[in-house]
Amino acid sequence: MLNNQGRPTGIEDVNASTNGYQSYTGSRGLSQVEGLIYEIGDKNRTGVDLPEVDDFESCLGGFERTEEIGLAGLTEPEAMRHYTRLSRKNYAIDLGFYPLGSCTMKHNPRLNEKMARLPGLSDIHPLQPISTVQGALDLIDTLAHWLKTLTGMPAVAMSPKAGAHGELCGLMSIRAALEAKGDARSIVLAPESAHGTNPATAALCGYKVKPIPATKDGRVDLEAMKEALGPDVAAIMVTNPNTCGLFEREIIEIADAVHAIGGYFYCDGANFNAIVGKVRPGDLGVDAMHINLHKTFSTPHGGGGPGAGPVVLSEALAPYAPIPYVVAGDESFDIVEHDTTGKSYGRMTAYHGQMGMFTRALSYMMSHGSDGLAKVAEDSVLNANYVLASLKDIMSASFEGPCMHEALFDDRFLKATGVSTLDFSKAMIDEGYHPMTMYFPLVVHGAMLIEPTETESKQSVDDFIGMMRHLVEKAKAGETERFTGAPYNAPLKRLDETGAARKPILRWTKSEDE
Ligand SMILES: *Cc1c(COP(=O)(O)O)cnc(C)c1O
Repeated sequence: MLNNQGRPTGIEDVNASTNGYQSYTGSRGLSQVEGLIYEIGDKNRTGVDLPEVDDFESCLGGFERTEEIGLAGLTEPEAMRHYTRLSRKNYAIDLGFYPLGSCTMKHNPRLNEKMARLPGLSDIHPLQPISTVQGALDLIDTLAHWLKTLTGMPAVAMSPKAGAHGELCGLMSIRAALEAKGDARSIVLAPESAHGTNPATAALCGYKVKPIPATKDGRVDLEAMKEALGPDVAAIMVTNPNTCGLFEREIIEIADAVHAIGGYFYCDGANFNAIVGKVRPGDLGVDAMHINLHKTFSTPHGGGGPGAGPVVLSEALAPYAPIPYVVAGDESFDIVEHDTTGKSYGRMTAYHGQMGMFTRALSYMMSHGSDGLAKVAEDSVLNANYVLASLKDIMSASFEGPCMHEALFDDRFLKATGVSTLDFSKAMIDEGYHPMTMYFPLVVHGAMLIEPTETESKQSVDDFIGMMRHLVEKAKAGETERFTGAPYNAPLKRLDETGAARKPILRWTKSEDE
């Protein structure tokens, strides 16, 4: 159990955080210490016992396995307990407040789950005959209709499977459109506050990324942007509301300026939940925008999936959209698998996209209605401003004035306390809260980006604010160790996250003495 490969599973490590109380097993309360499945497994234990085969002659021509298969040996109840114990260590939106800025972790209505589990939607296969999945195609087509309506855009590519994947779809459409004009360009502009996926996507598409500085009030510097424009600029990628939680007031000027030099306007729509039902990106001059269904239209996400990132496209870019896509005929729906125009840049995914996400998003839209969706935007902005107004007297708000759906603070209020943004976040874990997004966006020092979402009640936002005020007072009162050693109450104490990121140990190997 103590094969300690970069991970403090040792009983001493765990007991070290219990005020001197040493348990025999290392477990605390009814929360068990859990080793890796290979550490707790044993090759003499299995879920099934097969009788030895006698008189067996292999017909594999010498390709049969001669060594152990190397799977962890566990009985069925042991395997069950292992995964259930691990799942209990997860923090989730269904357990508590989840203030991650930019990620929009909001409650996923149970109605969504019920709809996503309907057999006609959950038990189908992408290779089934089209005639047997007409309802599912109808659902995709209906969702596409509402995405176009809400954004004021004429076309949508449904297949991208995440926001970042949607960015790739958008930039590949832009590149295809430019190449069709014989005008391949080499530069993509992105503001300094951009989500890391924006420059990463541009670079993956072979573009050089030119950063655009921010103004003192946290928005794109229009003059600097205009200076960076030129005949070699393919596109600008702007998030609106941006990652400082602010609306880009000069968005139409930005769109006009990039169009004037023959470039395209890619809008990162990850924050669409702040303006849904209020503003149509199509009216702002956007050419392409991904919508994170898993942020704006609920649906649980995290840890890399699952997600869905449909991309709405302007008239100019629509012909270059990827295949496959769903089309509505007079009597039935069909899937277009092959491009006959020669314009589509190609295939984005094997099939049509994430059916479960589509179902949840449509369920969310239809249960809210157009007035309800506008209220989602209003309430998310109200909650974030309530947090901002309730904390800005003791924390340092990065920009003047109200915010949109998330509130940005920096670490000036921690000056001379010996407490960093990281330490502060770890102390939040001791208080039972998942930390907010930290050190992003990069445009302010020691950023703390808080997004309460509209699904939190005033009571739960008040509880969070009370906890934050308490911690700020402790930090300012010089109780430094409470922060620098945190978390004390977590199953494991402070982990070496830099080490884990820089030198990850991804493969378990048997230790020598076994
Ligand atoms: C979440 C997010 C993305 C990436 O979306 P994924 O679905 O995680 O790939 C891009 N930009 C912004 C601003 C985001 O918040």
